[in-house]
Amino acid sequence: VISWFVHGLRRRVVTTRYPAMPEPSVRALPAPPAFDPCQLSRSLAEQLELICPSGALSVAGPMLRYDVGACTACGRCQQLAGAAVRSSGLIELATADRGHLVKQIPILGDPDG
Ligand code: SF4
Repeated sequence: VISWFVHGLRRRVVTTRYPAMPEPSVRALPAPPAFDPCQLSRSLAEQLELICPSGALSVAGPMLRYDVGACTACGRCQQLAGAAVRSSGLIELATADRGHLVKQIPILGDPDG
């Protein structure tokens, strides 16, 4: 790390390039969940809203609103509803538009969903 720092000072590099290859250890990190709308009943969506500690999940009419930007990947939703929730495996979520991190997931059986 120190040699990298000295190299950066000499060349006046203040940022590093994006890694050319994915870091293998990243696969072991918790990733935000992905929701299966075919398994998402209204009662389950309401339970998910209640157990989400960061407020990333909220029921809004016929949809479960999922704010990936607020999700801490704690895994509680996956523990509660394993059939409806799985790990997305995605950790590179950067976007220039905050709105792109908010997903609307239709609730099963809802006439508007
Ligand atoms: S992983 Fe945790 S923070 Fe993210 S949506 Fe599920 S319960 Fe909420």
